Amino acid sequence: MMSPEKVKVLEDKYPFFRPFLGVECGNGWFGIIDDLCKTLSVINFKGAMIEYIKEKFGGLRVGLSHVGGVNYEIMLSAIDRAHEKSLKTCEECGEVGKLRDINGWLKTLCYDCTIKMKKQLGG
Ligand SMILES: [Zn+2]
Repeated sequence: MMSPEKVKVLEDKYPFFRPFLGVECGNGWFGIIDDLCKTLSVINFKGAMIEYIKEKFGGLRVGLSHVGGVNYEIMLSAIDRAHEKSLKTCEECGEVGKLRDINGWLKTLCYDCTIKMKKQLGG
């Protein structure tokens, strides 16, 4: 989970950033999420809200609601770009990372964080 301090920074900056389950990914992706929100805030967002942010299969997933307005395709391509960046960025520390198999579990991590996580899992 992202630290509450970092989540609060995003919530304070972006009124549409309201993930109801918190931010279900590591601190390393803070910059990617911040960039995505910056992009979304300059296009015509028409009351859309970010409802969830999570990690799945090692990549960043973003869920939006109330997206019936214009600029839907721009929003989706911004989210796609964030997802692509997440697959090259360590979810834990934000350094360059790659998709790795940790005991059958896909995570995008740098080498050091991979070693740490394997130790935590006792592998
Ligand atoms: Zn790392």
